[in-house]
Amino acid sequence: MWPLFALFLGLAVGSFLNVVIHRLPRGESVVYPPSRCPQCGHRLGPWDLVPVLSYLALKGRCRYCARPISPRYPLVEALTGGLFLLASLFYPPGVEALLVFLFLAFLVALAFIDVDTFELPDPLTYGLLFLGLLASWALAFPLPFRESLDGSLMAAGGSPWWRVTGTFS
Ligand SMILES: [Zn+2]
Repeated sequence: MWPLFALFLGLAVGSFLNVVIHRLPRGESVVYPPSRCPQCGHRLGPWDLVPVLSYLALKGRCRYCARPISPRYPLVEALTGGLFLLASLFYPPGVEALLVFLFLAFLVALAFIDVDTFELPDPLTYGLLFLGLLASWALAFPLPFRESLDGSLMAAGGSPWWRVTGTFS
């Protein structure tokens, strides 16, 4: 049941990631307005938003204007569903699994936005950084907090200050 749940959760999250990937670089809200066909602007109904299946049922065309829809949409959904499914095989239901799902979702959004715009939006990169440090601080997952902070600071381009000053060593 758990892998199946993870798959469906991933498909739904992937559907939302499509919105994030499309709108975030444009500085638009990711929650409002509801999804529309990028071609004709027709508002999409609940049946048009069923991940992957709606795309297959409509043979990759908009229900309203019949113009082709990018295969990117079902691809992002299927990819996210697949990644969540895979993660569920390594992590039992729990906080760690949810954190891994969240991490994967951020990475999928970042990867596609990077392909589109050659940029990684700050809300996502700092969100990921904050998420990682918070998880590490609260749960020592996936690394103890010291190591995470160390890694973050090194990534930021500076040697950890306690190594330099010897404060904690
Ligand atoms: Zn349309």
